[in-house]
Amino acid sequence: MNADTAATPDARTEPTGRVWLITGASSGFGRSIAAAALAAGDTVVATARRPEALDDLIAAHPDRAVALQLDVTDQARIAAVVADTALWYGRIDVLVNNAGLGLVGAVEETTDRELRDLMDLHFFGPAALVRAALPHMRRQGSGAIVQMSSMGGRLSFPGVGAYSATKFALEGLSEALAAEVAPHGIKVLIVEPGSFRTGFAGGGALRQTAAIPAYEELVGPVRTSLPGSDGKQEGDPDKAAAAILAALAAERTPMRLPLGNDATDAVFAALDTARAETVAWEKVSRSTGFDD
Ligand code: NDP
Repeated sequence: MNADTAATPDARTEPTGRVWLITGASSGFGRSIAAAALAAGDTVVATARRPEALDDLIAAHPDRAVALQLDVTDQARIAAVVADTALWYGRIDVLVNNAGLGLVGAVEETTDRELRDLMDLHFFGPAALVRAALPHMRRQGSGAIVQMSSMGGRLSFPGVGAYSATKFALEGLSEALAAEVAPHGIKVLIVEPGSFRTGFAGGGALRQTAAIPAYEELVGPVRTSLPGSDGKQEGDPDKAAAAILAALAAERTPMRLPLGNDATDAVFAALDTARAETVAWEKVSRSTGFDD
């Protein structure tokens, strides 16, 4: 076992309600989702790089909340955390792949290292968690996987290409996954928030690439506006958590759920643009088959 805190069960425990496994639960969406699940009477394994950040949440629900150390770029640790959760509670009902951070920079400004590190965090980590959790969910014949993507996982704009690439990758994987696991009674929910008041834009969480002057006009405003939005974003992460629980409880859980007025407007605009462009080029698109 990999018990990290005194609160971890030392033997098989009958869980109360559903069993949630949440990454990046120390702040923002992860913390709000953990709090909402606990308020709903469920059991939560809340993971964080620094589990002590969850001490207050655990102290408020000592019989239903456990904090474990997990850096989602550590694949061996992922396997251990999932195995311990299943060992202690006998099941995993909801996996929330939430851990993440922002990176601002033009595509040419982004180094291979920066791109790979962000893929490890937003794509390979969640993929490993999905692989580890699915055998338990398939055995149960039920479960749900929540993938915290972004409005930037559906569309992109200057300065966020690398961030969007990692979230697009997560969404592509998840769209296929949803169809693969539906026959096993497992739901996949891709969440696409706009700008929410979490730790995302402040406190050094947001990373920036080295700047190339040629991109200053397009990317410079993003470099200042994102950190400048800290503490003023329209989105409330507690309301996002409530929306996620409602979507999971629905008989027809959507595959994608934009959150916030900004995300909803941007997704509608992107859908309209994509449709108009496909229509405008339809004849060309259909003209590429052999003539025989
Ligand atoms: P926060 O900064 O409040 O939370 C991010 C969480 O991810 C923190 O708990 C942080 O832990 C954790 N984290 C970062 N790196 C790792 C790692 N390697 N392993 C484990 N945990 C890690 O921001 P949000 O709540 O906003 O972010 C949550 C998710 O929401 C992210 O995936 C983000 O991309 C997405 N999102 C956020 C938006 C927003 O406007 N807030 C918009 C769209 C999407 P630590 O405390 O150790 O740093």
